[in-house]
Amino acid sequence: MSDDVSQIDTKVRALRRTVNAIALSLVAAITILAPLGYGLIDYRYEETHASFRAKLSASRVAQYIYQHSQLWQYQTARIAELIRLTELPDNAGRYRVIDQAGKVVLSEDAVAAYATMTRTVPISVAGVSIGRVEFTVPLDSMIQRLGIATLLSLLLALCAYATIRIFPFRVLDRALEGLDSAHRMIVDKNAALEQQNHELMEREQALRSTKAMLRQRSEQLLEAQHLGKIGDWSFRLGDKTLWWSPEIYQLLAYDPQSFRPERNAVTALYVGDSARRLQQAQAEVMRTGLVNSVDIKVKRGDGSIGDLAITSKAMINADGGIIGLSGTIQDISARKSAEAQLEKLAYYDPLTGLANRSLFHLEISELMVRNRRTGSDAALLLLDLDGFKEINDTLGHGAGDELLRKIGQLISQALGPGNFLSRLGGDEFAIVLSHPTPRSEIEQLATTLLAAIAGPIALERGEAAISTSIGIAMIPRDGSTLNEILRSADLALYRAKEDGRGRYRFFEAGMSAAVQHKMALSRDLRAAITDNVGLSVHYQPQIELSSDRVAGFEALMRWSHPTLGSISPAEFIPLAESSHLICDLGLWILREAATQAKRWLDAGEPPRDIAVNVSAAQIWHTDFVSDVVRVLEDTGLPPHLLCLELTESLLADHAEGRVRNVLMQLKRLGVTLALDDFGTGYSSLGYLTQLPFDKLKIDRVFIDGIAGSERSRKLLQGVIALGRGLGMTLVMEGVERAEEVDILLEFDCDVVQGFFFARPTVAATALDFARAFDGKVERRAGAGFETAARAAVG
Ligand code: C2E
Ligand code: CA
Ligand code: CA
Repeated sequence: MSDDVSQIDTKVRALRRTVNAIALSLVAAITILAPLGYGLIDYRYEETHASFRAKLSASRVAQYIYQHSQLWQYQTARIAELIRLTELPDNAGRYRVIDQAGKVVLSEDAVAAYATMTRTVPISVAGVSIGRVEFTVPLDSMIQRLGIATLLSLLLALCAYATIRIFPFRVLDRALEGLDSAHRMIVDKNAALEQQNHELMEREQALRSTKAMLRQRSEQLLEAQHLGKIGDWSFRLGDKTLWWSPEIYQLLAYDPQSFRPERNAVTALYVGDSARRLQQAQAEVMRTGLVNSVDIKVKRGDGSIGDLAITSKAMINADGGIIGLSGTIQDISARKSAEAQLEKLAYYDPLTGLANRSLFHLEISELMVRNRRTGSDAALLLLDLDGFKEINDTLGHGAGDELLRKIGQLISQALGPGNFLSRLGGDEFAIVLSHPTPRSEIEQLATTLLAAIAGPIALERGEAAISTSIGIAMIPRDGSTLNEILRSADLALYRAKEDGRGRYRFFEAGMSAAVQHKMALSRDLRAAITDNVGLSVHYQPQIELSSDRVAGFEALMRWSHPTLGSISPAEFIPLAESSHLICDLGLWILREAATQAKRWLDAGEPPRDIAVNVSAAQIWHTDFVSDVVRVLEDTGLPPHLLCLELTESLLADHAEGRVRNVLMQLKRLGVTLALDDFGTGYSSLGYLTQLPFDKLKIDRVFIDGIAGSERSRKLLQGVIALGRGLGMTLVMEGVERAEEVDILLEFDCDVVQGFFFARPTVAATALDFARAFDGKVERRAGAGFETAARAAVG
């Protein structure tokens, strides 16, 4: 089909070409030949006219000369008259009569024309030529006519072209378009047909595979019936006979030869209320005609008890009447035991094998209901391991799991039988003493538990030392609902942790207020972090004594509580530290401070350090190095301008190797490290030489009261000499008085920070201070500083 169309197409294209050629030739012919023909005719006319006049004039003049043969040359007026007689209307022209000697006898005025034609005829008298007549006609008007004729023929040619070339083709195009759309229609129809064909084939294929699948399914069903231990049964109402398929005999372990499935014999197999429930179900089938299924228990032929699922449906005759029941019997013993297994999984902790939180909830709720009836007392002990997370992080999760298992065993052993122990999740365990126990006995038990866990616990590889805290609540005194009692025990546990870990605390009424306040604060702080509201950063200038300029700022966190107002970091930082919130807070201020420092730099401020406090938890529990790398990348702050302040508490743990590693990585990034609060912590000087600190921040305890005490001065001098000896930059914190600055100058301290110069304040004010301070100090004496500092602030 498309071949035909393309053939037609080629032919049409050839036809177009031919017609085009013809039309163009015609145009050429008309535009060239028509004016040419016309021009020739016109020219002939002019020529004839000129020749005619010349001839006529010549014959008239000859006649006249013949009659007046002498001196005709002088009869010019008469000759001119004769010649003028030959004039035709509208026929301009010029004549001349020339004698035999070539002399012009007579001449009319010249013709004013740009093209002329001249014809000459001899004057012969009696066969002798005595001169000649010359006629000249203008050709201008002929040329004009020729021009007009050319234009007209061009027009004519265009008309002809249009008639030949455009109109027929338009008609042809229409016809072709019709043909084309007809063709397209045919093509579309063909495609649709093909599609239908394809679909039909596909359907056939699908049908074939469905059939195959069905066949396979029914085979599988038979197989499954066998494997799944399903048998068929039927019961006819008329003769009350019950029929079993061989599978039923098999799955009930009865011999079809000896056992007749008669009503009483079968009913005797049912265990418990199975017979009643089955009867009820079948009565329902008879009433509603709907299929029904019940799970029952039966006694098998071998004496074992099995679980069966019996489905029943009505058998209906042609008139729609019920003539009996039929159905299947399936052995579901395996499923039932799997369900029991699942229940166990749902209620037991797979790691320790102890009851889990769900079972604990169930147990304690039931206990509370029971005790309410009997008026009996009970107790709940919540145990939480101290610092388990750190052990888990350092020793690995495998060792962590092993430790939890071991501790579960230790508690069980210490507890003895009859008490309920469960693992609530993580490192939290709960003990329910369901019988009334005197307080002294509970205390005894708590002490035993603490001691059992406190000793080193041997693990597959090495050993671990861990302590635990215990919170105790009395039921129902400290709570009459599950939630209340849990909260009370939780509060007691919290207090135990606060009081120094490794101890137990009983719940006391006053506890809740204080602890709840802290818990609420903790919750609000979390909200402040997630919603990023209420948190801000203050900056405290650090002054370099040698250059009299602000060399950097320490970033200090501020929190404005939605209802309680501004809360001191001394209160909320420890709170954040106890709940790991500090990690998020620390990252937040790091990013915030780095962004601010970069902004200052971009605004053209001289480079100044930015010091950020880093909590030990950030090093222990987060990938702190990556965080720093990301913040530096994101903000574009040059690493050497970032100073991280860490405290000695960092090393209060056993993870010295890891801490060292992290600090080394940080140093490699190019950031500076400062040891904060030096003098308040463990003050073991060993780590000072081993860890890569660049700065030593001497705590304000060393400067307090220094002006009045020689001993304090000596101590400070010693600390400064120590830091110098280790090549560290010395930063004095908490400088409040001019005399202190004088002493620090004398002792050659590098950097000072304190209220004497400036309090921590918002970024803009801190910057104003730095700008005013830099370069304004003339003298290094304390008085000078004071004036300058005052001037800078004021
Ligand atoms: P720090 O790191 O030793 O910070 C210096 C503290 O001393 C600041 O208290 C500062 O306001 C105060 N201070 C400065 N100059 C003087 C002075 O001349 N006299 C006295 N008496 N105090 C002065 P602030 O801001 O209340 O912070 C208290 C502590 O909270 C900080 O002690 C630091 O341990 C912690 N902290 C504050 N912000 C952060 C933070 O972003 N992250 C972490 N991890 N801890 C922070
Ligand atoms: Ca600090
Ligand atoms: Ca400090």
